[in-house]
Amino acid sequence: MHHPDSPCAGGGPAGARLRQLFDEGQLQAAGALFLEELENNILPHSAELAHWLDNALGAQRTEKLVMALSSEPCLRCQKGFEVCDECHGHGVLAAGALCAQCLGFGRVRCDVCNGTGQTEFETLPRELWPRIIQHRLDAAGPFVADLIYRALPPFDGEHAVKPLTGRILNIAKLLGVLDNALAAANAFSGKAEVDMVVLRTRASRWGGAGELRLRDGLAALAMSLRVGSQKLASDAPEIAAMLARADRLEELARTGAFAGTSFDQPALFAAV
Ligand SMILES: [Zn+2]
Ligand SMILES: [Zn+2]
Repeated sequence: MHHPDSPCAGGGPAGARLRQLFDEGQLQAAGALFLEELENNILPHSAELAHWLDNALGAQRTEKLVMALSSEPCLRCQKGFEVCDECHGHGVLAAGALCAQCLGFGRVRCDVCNGTGQTEFETLPRELWPRIIQHRLDAAGPFVADLIYRALPPFDGEHAVKPLTGRILNIAKLLGVLDNALAAANAFSGKAEVDMVVLRTRASRWGGAGELRLRDGLAALAMSLRVGSQKLASDAPEIAAMLARADRLEELARTGAFAGTSFDQPALFAAV
């Protein structure tokens, strides 16, 4: 084990390139190069990787690598939720019916990253998963406090539609982070790694609270839509889709049957 301040000289040319990027503060570039070299088999895999990192980067740069990989963006999407291709973001179809794919939100989850905008664990080396899980959960903590444990915005009729929509989508994105972390941690089950038990417990607890807040939010949004529909002229063409949406969101809020929607989190919701 090197002293953290050790200059480190191992790892050959690949090690030198990575050290230079880290020392120049180019964390994202270093993370991307690391993944590229790993994919091209320039870096060793599995058990030898930890030894390689120790020799080539040392403890401090490896910690920076974990940070960089934790926030590495999804290769497929921009922000985790993309404009719905069925309704082009309008939430209703051309005929005026509710868009069943996005439930009127106008956006749907990227299935590659589970709506998080973060690169999927499968593209990251398994040896670093425990540290990346830890890092992502630590980073999620403040958002959990703000989006899940904080009460919903006060209900003020139809005006609540916009803030509730933003809150719901942000909760969904956060639940995706927790679900991905839990699924990755579950891959280590049976290995009696105490840290992983702690991380799984944390993700599950937050996920359980998050599901309840999500369902509260959907119910409140449904109510806002009903109030909004009453303010419109009784023959307004958008009323049918608003009420259909309210019905659907209320059903989700009541049953929690999220399968087939952008809100389903199989690892997280099964665990609570
Ligand atoms: Zn849609
Ligand atoms: Zn994505």
